[in-house]
Amino acid sequence: MATVEEQQAPTETPERKQSITVENPATGQTITEVPALDGDAVIALVQRARRAQPAWEALGFAGRAAVMRDVRKWLVDNRARVMRTLSEENGKPWEDAQIEVFYIADALGFWAKNARKYLADEGSLPHSPFLLGRKLVNRYRPFGVVGVIGPWNYPLINNFGDAIPALMAGNTVVLKPAQITPLSSMLMEEAMRAAGAPDDVFLVANGRGGEVGGALIENVDMLHFTGSTEVGKQIAVQAAARLLPVTLELGGNDPMIVLSDANLERAANAAVWGGLQNGGQTCISVERVYVEGEAYEPFVRKVVEKVHALRQGAPGGPGEVEIGAVTSPDQLETIEEHVRDAVEKGATVAAGGSRGTGPGTFFEPTVLTGVDHSMKAMTEETFGPTLAIMRVDDADEAVRLANDSNLGLNSSVFAKDPKRGEQVARRIEAGAAIVNDALTNYFATEIPIGGVKDSGLGARHGRVGIQKYCQRQNLVVTRVGLNKEIYYFPYSKRMAKLFDWSIVVLYGRGSKRPRGRG
Ligand code: NAD
Repeated sequence: MATVEEQQAPTETPERKQSITVENPATGQTITEVPALDGDAVIALVQRARRAQPAWEALGFAGRAAVMRDVRKWLVDNRARVMRTLSEENGKPWEDAQIEVFYIADALGFWAKNARKYLADEGSLPHSPFLLGRKLVNRYRPFGVVGVIGPWNYPLINNFGDAIPALMAGNTVVLKPAQITPLSSMLMEEAMRAAGAPDDVFLVANGRGGEVGGALIENVDMLHFTGSTEVGKQIAVQAAARLLPVTLELGGNDPMIVLSDANLERAANAAVWGGLQNGGQTCISVERVYVEGEAYEPFVRKVVEKVHALRQGAPGGPGEVEIGAVTSPDQLETIEEHVRDAVEKGATVAAGGSRGTGPGTFFEPTVLTGVDHSMKAMTEETFGPTLAIMRVDDADEAVRLANDSNLGLNSSVFAKDPKRGEQVARRIEAGAAIVNDALTNYFATEIPIGGVKDSGLGARHGRVGIQKYCQRQNLVVTRVGLNKEIYYFPYSKRMAKLFDWSIVVLYGRGSKRPRGRG
């Protein structure tokens, strides 16, 4: 949460302002120190990015795509180094780091290939009699300098990942990663340099949230933010003061619904992976599961067995652990509080339930049963390796409880018949829903994904995921013009009569539906 960083540097001392200590949360050891910027330094970075933007835009889609493909080559060549960096600064297992590299490599190619198509001029034929014969174009052009502010749970996907479409649209980007995980973003600066990107096209601004983030909000031309709902709302208020366009990807408390005829083995595997992968620190993690009727007992048994088999510890290389560290110390307290609150209100801890041991920050993979909506674990984002499972009578009750939330990010439904699963999924108030799987809808880069309710504003991916980084221009061209249009001055009674007649002839009819008296 925002407070992590603010609390880590509560008082300003010159030394604190100048550098950030980056620690490995799985070992408690210091990895390195990186320079931290103050507000003036951020303004200077934005100015550099602004000067670099016209040439970057002029490079065109093909030129920018070539840079992106060379960044991808660099990423593949340097993947072991990038994964080690991600794993160390975040405490995530090798395989969870691999998912980030996979996504970024895929996204670089996706936007390189599709940006031109998504941002092409959109022509229309005029329907209005005023515009007959005119050329109508909806045109996209980059804002200029885009600010991207990202969280610590996905230091690549939700940081550089959101910069890629902004860059492909012809903007330059200043990225502010979370204070506790700056290193993989700095590697992407290196990648851009190695790929021959012009200077200052992509810049990283390290430092504290309020100071660096605040300076970005005051100076960039558009902002994409990923982080907590609390900070997202603050940013929306700040951005409103200068009408800065923003998109916000915020917190989630995602439900999974398991219908009684579902493949329970698959549903249990998906719940355990979807809830606990990346230590449960995924915005679209499964946080709460509603299981229909008699499927509840066998489902819980399967989940508990699978959770007991998970290995937790300081991540090393491939295949060593499934669950790593809790990245932020503040988050550890939230997780502990949610488990304590649930137990005090009558829940059972069926697996885990406590902080782990060791020099790092760990929380055991945890299953809560006998839960209800009086408990924070069901109604607030826990953002840790916990799964809360509740029995429901039927699909209607499951949908009602799934929707009993101020958040609406992702959701999942398991059912034997995918059509029935889809029908239930369509009733869930969330920006995304996946049937018979968990989380993987994030990889559907072709279609937008974003939160509703307090989970966000706008979306990433798909056509809108790059168009949002552009201003629209409405362009109407009169190709053959008379000396004067009939609606120009001077106004006359004759013309008013003609217009009056046109209004009646063109728009004076209602529908033809039969209407009786009620
Ligand atoms: P956070 O809101 O604390 O911080 C996010 C970023 O905002 C950090 O870079 C931080 O330094 C910066 N920041 C903090 N205060 C700021 C301020 N006043 N002005 C400008 N910037 C400020 O979030 P977090 O704890 O880093 O990340 C976890 C949260 O992010 C969870 O709620 C999670 O669900 C959410 N998240 C959402 C998505 C999504 O796509 N919807 C993806 C990942 C994470």
